[in-house]
Amino acid sequence: MFSMEWSVSQSHQYNECPRSWYLQRRSAEGDRLRVRPVPLKSLIGIAVHKGIAEQIGLWRDGKEVSALGAEEIGLTYISRIWAQKESTITEFVNGVVVENNTRSRMEDAMHQRIATFFNMFWPHLSKYQYVTHETLDSFLIQGVKMWVQVDLATRDSMGGLLVSDWKTGQGHHNEADSHQMVVYALWANKKFEPDPDRIHTQVVNLRTGQVDRRTMNVESLAETEQRLDEEIARVSEAVRGGNFVAIPSLEKCISCGYLSLCNEGSSTVQGSRSQSVNID
Ligand code: SF4
Repeated sequence: MFSMEWSVSQSHQYNECPRSWYLQRRSAEGDRLRVRPVPLKSLIGIAVHKGIAEQIGLWRDGKEVSALGAEEIGLTYISRIWAQKESTITEFVNGVVVENNTRSRMEDAMHQRIATFFNMFWPHLSKYQYVTHETLDSFLIQGVKMWVQVDLATRDSMGGLLVSDWKTGQGHHNEADSHQMVVYALWANKKFEPDPDRIHTQVVNLRTGQVDRRTMNVESLAETEQRLDEEIARVSEAVRGGNFVAIPSLEKCISCGYLSLCNEGSSTVQGSRSQSVNID
């Protein structure tokens, strides 16, 4: 059996389909070096994050930043993945027939998200003081490693800590995003800022231009720590019992990297491999 580690994205995956979480953990444990295929709906987000992260690294080092530079990084990523799509993109691996203009739609969407970032948000954010960005880090909950990777952490002119997260897809800001940001705030509290009242978070939706900004407090951090405690205890129990129910749906299963290992998913997808696939 695998060792228990946790993160907000694992929590999301577990709630969507415990079987897919289990299969991913098992495969990660047995085959750490293998690059897993990426679902189409994640490609735009990865490309945008890579492009922006590279430019923030330049800003940190006192160098010039540009939207064009971010786009080049994103386009290179999409091009590299697309060139070997039969092995790198989950839907192609699963034999799904996607629309001919899928790649150009992804590139257009990436362009729009990056333009929104640099036109609407960067002029403001770049006045702040750099703390860290896109660094994989962890803290302990009940002795279990809780992994986080924040898009950007900065200090404002009053010394407050601002944790920012870019969203690139269709999802509206929701409870899951709020939970994710409080988990990031918990990490920031342990790592950078002992006073919860001086920790702010913002979810920046690069598709719509909307921002959801919040300020933390002792209660919000304590509630989230309690929720993580309970979640980890519940999943640890499932791991001990080896009980991972499959929750199939056509939309989930055609984009699932474990379809070939899952009878329930295979039955759900059977005869439906010609689909309009959601790319964001
Ligand atoms: S194929 Fe569907 S049911 Fe099976 S693990 Fe993946 S998401 Fe879950």
